[in-house]
Amino acid sequence: MPKFQPILRVAIPSPLHRNFDYLPPPGCDASQLLPGVRLRVPFGRTKTIGILLEVDSHSTVESARLKAVLEVLDEQPALPPDIMQLARWASGYYHHPLGEVLSATLPALLRTGHTLQIRGTYPKGHEHCWLLTETGKAIEASSLTRAPRQSALLRLLQANPDGMIAEQFAEQTGDWRGAMRTLIEKGWVESKESPCITALDREINDPRPSLNAAQNEAVTAVCGSLQRYQAFLLDGVTGSGKTEVYLRIIEQVLAQGLQALVLVPEIGLTPQLVTRFQRRFNVPLAVLHSGLSDRERLTAWLMARDGQAPIVIGTRSAVFTPLARPGVFIIDEEHDLSLKQQEGFRYSARDVAVMRAHQAQIPIVLGSATPSLESLYNVTTGRYHLLTLPERAGSALHPAIEVLDVRHQPMEDSLSLPLLSLIKRHLAGNNQVLLFLNRRGYAPTLLCHDCGWVAECRRCDARLTLHHGSRLLQCHHCGTQRPIDKHCPKCSSADLRSLGHGTERIEQALQRHFPNTPVLRIDRDSTRRKGALQTLLDSVHTGESQILIGTQMLAKGHHFPDVTLVGILDADQGLFGADFRASERMAQLIIQVAGRAGRADKPGQVIIQTHHPDHPLLHLLITQGYHNFAAAALEERRETHLPPFSNLVLLRAEAGNRELPQQFLSEARAAAEIQMMAGIELLGPVPAPMEKRAGRYRAHLLLQATRRSDLHRLLDAWIPRLEKLPLARKVRWALDVDPMEMF
Ligand code: ADP
Ligand code: ZN
Ligand code: ZN
Repeated sequence: MPKFQPILRVAIPSPLHRNFDYLPPPGCDASQLLPGVRLRVPFGRTKTIGILLEVDSHSTVESARLKAVLEVLDEQPALPPDIMQLARWASGYYHHPLGEVLSATLPALLRTGHTLQIRGTYPKGHEHCWLLTETGKAIEASSLTRAPRQSALLRLLQANPDGMIAEQFAEQTGDWRGAMRTLIEKGWVESKESPCITALDREINDPRPSLNAAQNEAVTAVCGSLQRYQAFLLDGVTGSGKTEVYLRIIEQVLAQGLQALVLVPEIGLTPQLVTRFQRRFNVPLAVLHSGLSDRERLTAWLMARDGQAPIVIGTRSAVFTPLARPGVFIIDEEHDLSLKQQEGFRYSARDVAVMRAHQAQIPIVLGSATPSLESLYNVTTGRYHLLTLPERAGSALHPAIEVLDVRHQPMEDSLSLPLLSLIKRHLAGNNQVLLFLNRRGYAPTLLCHDCGWVAECRRCDARLTLHHGSRLLQCHHCGTQRPIDKHCPKCSSADLRSLGHGTERIEQALQRHFPNTPVLRIDRDSTRRKGALQTLLDSVHTGESQILIGTQMLAKGHHFPDVTLVGILDADQGLFGADFRASERMAQLIIQVAGRAGRADKPGQVIIQTHHPDHPLLHLLITQGYHNFAAAALEERRETHLPPFSNLVLLRAEAGNRELPQQFLSEARAAAEIQMMAGIELLGPVPAPMEKRAGRYRAHLLLQATRRSDLHRLLDAWIPRLEKLPLARKVRWALDVDPMEMF
């Protein structure tokens, strides 16, 4: 027996806020194990995969009680040291268990034990991939007795439903390409370029415009600080050429042999952005988004990690993608809510990216036409360096924004008569019109006219939305759906009425008012099918006169040059939200939607329908623009001691029983009070604004602190106490550091 018994400290995905010690597997030389390798370990009654944190010489658990690791999965670490370091920081900052944070950084296949390689070698730039069509899936491979090669290929493809690349067929003897061609001709197999990687040797046909002075200044500033940390806020109105600035910075980063990581809110909503990168750069582009298959995701991840993909574009979770040679981080639409993960490991991809840039000593660029109040505040404190693009690129003009007071106005389906006649005028000029309403479906309420019954969700404190297309009542909070009632379940009356307006209903109304003009609806329902959004967007760009009606999907990234009139049908929704960020969101949405319109020869007009034309913040926004609005909103935050002038942590709890969450939070509050310090306030517990959601009752307790360090000190001492509370096992609870939504 050796005297020295090495102990493996392992992070395991579990809700417990601690790491676990194991013995090395028999015959393993623990001194050869590097942090970041994956280990299969016994855990409770099951097995799981953890990440090695360190090899230590002693454990607080006596070694007789320690279990041994079952298997070492990697020779080389799956996660490089910088990602391990970033995960440790994120685990500490967000007070989330390290095992879960590390697990969230891994592609699903690695989490479940797949080898650190795509079979064969993974593609170098090219990824042409073959997969079965629906017809092909139904074919019995054994029925092809006279064509053994086709039969073998079919079998292989059936075993690999995500598709296969050329190298994987290499083991096939003989001419597999010939047999493949026959399968394609039969319509059983299709070949495509894998969406996670774009191939080399594309035609590069993107003329680089010469930069204007402001763009030049921005590019020079960022490129002047390559190889050291600096955060930049690129504040430029829609169409001012922010993307062009990103492209030029990346050009220089690539020229130095470094990689660029670009985070965007939702790739599915901005196919144009990826296309612009493809047109500009003749290099492999790894695109990471939620629509990838597990295999595609692993391929893209490995190409980023091993430096094969100089440019990596992804949604929020891509912030943890390892990079061989990080050169710059770019966060587009930095104000966007979708950069914040709202469940499980709750983190802000923007804030994690800033920390990662700091650790890597490289610059980071946060771009937006409507920067978050937090980022604007960080400019005033000197933490971020401000770069401004004040004008639209080329010669396009800013649209004029007007408030339309709809009080006392006759309305037809949420459309006031003045707006209707404006629409008519713009269409007559052969232009396009865009109408925005952030409510999908036909009507938000189904009401019995005889007894007042309202169709509500049984699992949520919410009404069911009527959908005409699907002929269903749907809950937009939990997804519940059921057929539309024909009779009132309470009084049996047949007089059921739909109240209020969603995009479907406006679409119908517009078709009635403008029977000769095509109306396109763009919302989550009309774009559910893969590729549907692109088809709709393509048809917008035909330039015919037409009307677009849509939800906030319209506010993101797209540019519609032929749109000359933008109508915001209901600005009042955002004015009185329960959340202290409601007015900031409303202002961002209005400016983003307004920014979709107009170009040089066709200036845009923006109309905002409201019942509150005198609302001070709305008035300020319209008359003096986003930045004056933001300054006033920040002043309000300062006076009310809200972020960014204080720090918030929300302790959330939920259970199937109404009382338990609040009881747990009361106990939690009592536990916190023992170690309270000056400068921290506890608010609550209170029921969440929507108390019941998806069948569970929710409540929260808010912690507010002037100094972040106090808050962290309290949390460090508090969490072990929380874990020991008797009710901690009966409710589901989670901490939300820097919460973005209080619902
Ligand atoms: P943003 O990302 O701020 O919305 P883009 O970079 O997409 O702006 O630019 C808007 C439009 O202006 C694009 O069509 C782009 O090609 C064009 N553009 C950008 N910079 C210039 C420039 N310096 N000169 C002429 N056109 C430009
Ligand atoms: Zn009734
Ligand atoms: Zn519901």
